[in-house]
Amino acid sequence: MATRMPVAFVGHGAPTAAVDPNKSAPWAAWGRALPRPTAVLVVSAHWEGAPVRIGATRTLPLIYDFSGFPQALYALQYPAPGAPALADRVATLLGPGAHRDPERGLDHGAWVPLLHLLPDADVPVLQVTLPLSLGADGVFDLGRRLAPLRDEGVLLLGSGNVTHNLRAIAPDGSAPQPFARDFDQWTAEVTARRDWDALRAYREKAPALRQNHPREEHWLPLLFAAGAAADDDRVTFPVAGFEYGNLSRRSVQLG
Ligand code: ZN
Repeated sequence: MATRMPVAFVGHGAPTAAVDPNKSAPWAAWGRALPRPTAVLVVSAHWEGAPVRIGATRTLPLIYDFSGFPQALYALQYPAPGAPALADRVATLLGPGAHRDPERGLDHGAWVPLLHLLPDADVPVLQVTLPLSLGADGVFDLGRRLAPLRDEGVLLLGSGNVTHNLRAIAPDGSAPQPFARDFDQWTAEVTARRDWDALRAYREKAPALRQNHPREEHWLPLLFAAGAAADDDRVTFPVAGFEYGNLSRRSVQLG
C-alpha cells in the first residue's frame, strides 16, 4: 500500500500567478515538500456539476477560462497524463450517479497551481466537478467518499480561494480589506483545530460571508478537502497572504 497522501486546498487566485515568480515560488516549495503522488484528483471552483461528473482521462489542451489577461498565459501548457485507472476508482467509489465527461480537460483552477506544485507534468491528473448545488454537506461528503484514495497515493486537491470577491478587488499589493482579513482569520482558526462542524456551518458562523463570497464556488473546494481529512491529520498552511485586496492565497495541507 502506498503512503497515505495528505489532502490539499490551494488558493489559486488570479491566473497571473502562473507567470509571477513571487506568487508561484511558495507553490513550488510546497510541491517539493509533498510526497510524490501516484495521481492527482482536482476539484476546482471552475467546474461545477451535480451529480459529480468525471473529466477527461487523456491529455487534452488546457482550458484558458479567463479573458483579458496577458497573452503569455494563453501559451502555457501542462500536458499531464490522463488518469483512467483513477477515474474508474472514482466511479466505483461514487456509484452509478457519477457520469463521464471525456472531452473536458483541465481548467485554470487546476493547471495554474499544478504548473508549480508538480512542474514536470508527469503525474496523471483527473478533474471532477464541484457539486456546488449540493451545498456544504454535499461537497464535504464528496471528500469523505473519495478519502480512501489517499491510501492509494492520490493527492486530493481542492482549488478555490478562502476569500474571493472580484467586485471588490484592489490594486495588487494593497492591504487586505478588513472583511477579507476577518474571514480568512476565522477560516484559519476553525481549520487549524479541524472543527469541521463549524466550517460546514459557515453560513451562520463566518463573518461577512456575502462580502467575501458573492457565490460560493471558490469557498466550497475547501469543504471538499476537509471532508477527506482524517482525525489525526496535522493541519498546516503552506501559503498565506492576499493579492488584489481580497483574494486570500491561504492554502491548506491536511496530513
Ligand atoms: Zn478562480
